[in-house]
Amino acid sequence: MSDVQRESMEYDVVIVGGGPAGLSAAIRLKQLDDSLEIVLLEKGSEIGAHILSGAVLDPSGLDALIPDWKAKGAPLDTPVTEDNFYLLGEAGQMRIPNFPMPPLMSNHGNYIVSMGNVCRWMAEQAEALGVEIFPGMSCSEVIYGENGEVRGVVAGEFGKNSDGTPGPGYEPGMELLGKYVFLGEGVRGSLSKEVIARYNLAKDSDPQKYGLGMKEIWEIDPAKHKEGSVTHTMGWPLGSNAGGGSFIYHLANNQVYVGFVVHLNYENPHLHPYMEFQRFKHHKMVAELLEGGKRVAYGARAISEGGWQSMPRMVAPGVALLGCSVGMVNVPRIKGNHNAMLSGKAAAEAAHEAIRAGRSGDALNAYEAEVRQGAIGKDLFRVRNVKPIWSKYGLAASLTLGGLDMWTNNLFGMSLFGTFAHDKTDAEATGSVQRFERIDYPKPDGKLSFDRLTNVAFSFTNHEESQPAHLKLKDPHIPTSINLPKYDEPAQRYCPAGVYEVVREEGKGARFVINFQNCVHCKTCDIKDPSQNINWTVPQGGDGPNYPNM
Ligand SMILES: Cc1cc2nc3c(=O)[nH]c(=O)nc-3n(C[C@H](O)[C@H](O)[C@H](O)COP(=O)(O)OP(=O)(O)OC[C@H]3O[C@@H](n4cnc5c(N)ncnc54)[C@H](O)[C@@H]3O)c2cc1C
Repeated sequence: MSDVQRESMEYDVVIVGGGPAGLSAAIRLKQLDDSLEIVLLEKGSEIGAHILSGAVLDPSGLDALIPDWKAKGAPLDTPVTEDNFYLLGEAGQMRIPNFPMPPLMSNHGNYIVSMGNVCRWMAEQAEALGVEIFPGMSCSEVIYGENGEVRGVVAGEFGKNSDGTPGPGYEPGMELLGKYVFLGEGVRGSLSKEVIARYNLAKDSDPQKYGLGMKEIWEIDPAKHKEGSVTHTMGWPLGSNAGGGSFIYHLANNQVYVGFVVHLNYENPHLHPYMEFQRFKHHKMVAELLEGGKRVAYGARAISEGGWQSMPRMVAPGVALLGCSVGMVNVPRIKGNHNAMLSGKAAAEAAHEAIRAGRSGDALNAYEAEVRQGAIGKDLFRVRNVKPIWSKYGLAASLTLGGLDMWTNNLFGMSLFGTFAHDKTDAEATGSVQRFERIDYPKPDGKLSFDRLTNVAFSFTNHEESQPAHLKLKDPHIPTSINLPKYDEPAQRYCPAGVYEVVREEGKGARFVINFQNCVHCKTCDIKDPSQNINWTVPQGGDGPNYPNM
């Protein structure tokens, strides 16, 4: 489709992605100079539609960006009132007291928020400042200039037939060009992946690491609800099969975010992250909370976990990668929104300075320097060993050595261990099926636990069926010729939306089926496929989950 003729529009800065990173950049650019022409493109049907994180928000990013956010009505209405940390076993739980925790783990001063609603509010602020925001516009291609710089993106291509040819209502989309392009696509962004590879930006960093985060929103019995309460757990049901843990956040209106993260560096290809999540809800402590309540929404999204060591270079000619496009989550705190906001602000300041000086299309090195040397770098550097210690030595070591390391970093600004490396990608970590026992998961009971397809309906996901599958196989034979014998094709299990199936019919060989309509845009397949054969690309704009306004 490269010979398609498109109209083009010129801006000062083109921003891909209406998450906290992209929106912060848009707001900051306009705060600095309201004559700048800024456009922001979002693939979700509206801002917030693809934002999963029902979150505990550290307000430091918002404080820096919009200091009077309270007066302006930001939806930060539920301050954290209590912090609980439990180690779960199958039959019970042990509370870990708060006093041995390093101060950075405290949630005092943070808020339980719907990040979807925070983003909707940020979009209102940006629009009031004059930013042009277009939801329902997927950015599907990067446009490169004559000197090899990033010049813009193609957005808003609609109406292809399933074979990729233009359908009856085909719209070619637009070329949106800018002096600078900001990629704020979040974890494992499809254009970011291309840009990182093209400019070899990850050559000096460790591989990025990821978790798969799944979340349900529950309405529970008011008698059990404790607005502001935050609980994290580790241990059961994952045990030694995988790292990860849960979060339970009580927001307003008797609602609770119940979430579960499985680190994607697990080896056993039989592991079924979604079923681990469902099993977790049957732990006595969790079941007692949820019984009598109802699940009102479900979603899933990968979370970046590599931290300091895994951040690639984040600038190349004409382009800057913001927020979780390079992975800015502080893993022990499970927080990345504040850093995403700070990164958007820093990129905006660097671009504003450059445009003022008459520059365009160069690398915004000042942005990268601010990320590494400023508040984001400090936040990530002091916790850099927690995840690699967990990966190498397990949960107990991560609690003790990782905790000790956070304390020494906190007290003395130094680590006893230097910097541990992440040495493998999560795809490479997957072991062959012969080495591991099958895991038997109990059937969901339909009250506390649900089958995948029933739950996907609660993500309100929709994809136009006549378009080409946006999940592309580099080689269509690999799922059945390599992944099936070697790994029992783990896509059947790691996908939290049931997109991938291996179908066996009488007299025919196994067939790999991609139900792309179910995809919740979590990107796990792109990350975890052991053959790295699945490429997640954007479907047409407006498709995907429609996470509710809560
Ligand atoms: C289960 C889970 C729980 C979490 N809990 C917390 C928490 O409690 N506190 C916290 O601070 N952090 C939390 N995080 C981390 C937090 O969500 C991320 O750090 C944060 O979302 C990063 O912001 P971002 O703007 O970089 O990306 P995102 O928030 O992912 O936003 C990216 C946006 O870009 C859009 N987009 C992507 N590609 C394109 C494209 N090509 N064209 C157009 N639009 C595109 C997406 O639809 C999306 O709206 C959690 C993450 C997960 C998965």
